Amino acid sequence: MATEYELRGQLATCTRIFAMQGMIGVFGHVSVYQPETKRVFITPGMGSDKGSLRAEDMVPCDLSGKPLEGEQGPPVEWPIHTTIHGARPDALAVAHLHTPYATLFTIAKRKFLPVTLQGAIFGDGVPLYPEAQLITNPARGEALLKVIADKRAVLLRGHGIVVAGKNLQEVLYTSLVLEDDAKKSWQAASLGEVCTISPEECRAFGAEIALERRAQRAWNYFSSIEARWDHQPASGRGELFP
Ligand SMILES: [Zn+2]
Repeated sequence: MATEYELRGQLATCTRIFAMQGMIGVFGHVSVYQPETKRVFITPGMGSDKGSLRAEDMVPCDLSGKPLEGEQGPPVEWPIHTTIHGARPDALAVAHLHTPYATLFTIAKRKFLPVTLQGAIFGDGVPLYPEAQLITNPARGEALLKVIADKRAVLLRGHGIVVAGKNLQEVLYTSLVLEDDAKKSWQAASLGEVCTISPEECRAFGAEIALERRAQRAWNYFSSIEARWDHQPASGRGELFP
């Protein structure tokens, strides 16, 4: 079992990488769950400098969103995290992001379908949570849970994305893939009709690759780049809201 300090450190690294990639911005948040202690560790709320977070900055709370230490509470959309962590043993890490490209699929009347081989991990589809609202109470969290069900990710209409995975390495990798596939879909559409990867092709590719290995490779790659990244406060790339 990973120690609390290890989980906090991984959460900080994952969040700094999201910041470096311009994927977390002012309002995003990421969490990791320690089932043995039923403690959720979540990044601090809106406005915090996600590109400089350290292990000690993380906010511990329980599955009802109650802060367990200090004055600071979790971000207002904490039910996204607690509901999924509480219900899915395979979802020990959760990211809620308002990324520039995947969010386009929460706006356009166009279903998200994978267009690259690595996007085949989304061959089961990415469902859409239809309400244009923040997930700020447990009832909305439960409604979101019904939509995401056992999938890796969900699109929130006019809002952003939620990605769940068995650990932070997996959530980092699958979020990067979802964003990259969304970006390539949009770019390819400017050239003409877009060719998607069929469910059969997705399954065949999935059988040939080990997600865990890919996720670990991506983690190693991005964390080494992030270690050399310019950490001057507020110097991270970012659009207005992503
Ligand atoms: Zn949000």
